[in-house]
Amino acid sequence: MNAGTIGEDALIRRLAKLLPGRADVVAGIGDDCAVVRTGRRDAFDLLLKSDPVIEGVHFTQTAPAEAIGHKALGRVLSDIAAMGGEPLWGLIDLVAPASVPVKRLEGIYRGLATLARRQGVAIVGGDTSRGKTLEIHVFAVGRIPRGRAVLRSGGKPGDVLYVTGSLGGSGQERHLRFEPRLAEGQWLAAGKWATAMMDVSDGLATDLRRLTAACGTGAVIEAARIPISTVAKRLKDRRTPLEHALSDGEDFELLFTVSLRKAAAFETAWRRQFRLACNRIGELTEKSGRLELETRGIRRVLKVRGYEHFT
Ligand SMILES: [Mg+2]
Repeated sequence: MNAGTIGEDALIRRLAKLLPGRADVVAGIGDDCAVVRTGRRDAFDLLLKSDPVIEGVHFTQTAPAEAIGHKALGRVLSDIAAMGGEPLWGLIDLVAPASVPVKRLEGIYRGLATLARRQGVAIVGGDTSRGKTLEIHVFAVGRIPRGRAVLRSGGKPGDVLYVTGSLGGSGQERHLRFEPRLAEGQWLAAGKWATAMMDVSDGLATDLRRLTAACGTGAVIEAARIPISTVAKRLKDRRTPLEHALSDGEDFELLFTVSLRKAAAFETAWRRQFRLACNRIGELTEKSGRLELETRGIRRVLKVRGYEHFT
């Protein structure tokens, strides 16, 4: 068994067993961010998140430098958004071969800085190292009013499932241009709308499986309600647009649940607040661990898989 055959979630579970915790950790490994509490009377909980982007894995050699920087920070901010938090500070570890032109690195940092500035994030440090490939590792700290972080685990059977924006086709440069849904995430947490939330980074099918696993529920989603991106609709390959929407990954949209009794009020409030689409795609069910896809009234077990990091 190696990192490729065990599967990402199983690998993380195994490694996590080796690691120590502390009493002030509100939510540790397994959510979009860690949630920690530093003092008994603090008004805010802190959100911690780090993520690497690596040439040949998360971007190609020909990807525009600024877009790489945008993506590197954007991925981390998307996870802070998924808790309902406000990002504050970032650290960058840059790994690069000696042959990388300084101009390219400046481009990457310019792209990163533009997003940081727009979201009010200060970049306060980090480190650099020589390495075989170009890698940008971003660590960020955010905050959220104490006790208000929206975890993946808060959903109950009957809660309605929503997803922002549209899904699929991320391979066609969409993965370099996304906007982390910070305003939306903060609004969902502040209004106590969302019972559970995460961002869609590895494809709806995979990430929904993670959300339902955390909630201890199952889910049913309706094929006709899944918002498929224009890019995914135009792709001409062996997979249908729906399959792309279910499995492509790197959409960086928010996937969340709202209790059924609040759903109608939520939809009205959302439309008043945002122009961004928010689609009701299904609901959580009592059948723990079972994901179903409903097509023209017929429910089938959902088999489509998303992005696997080690394969
Ligand atoms: Mg995430």
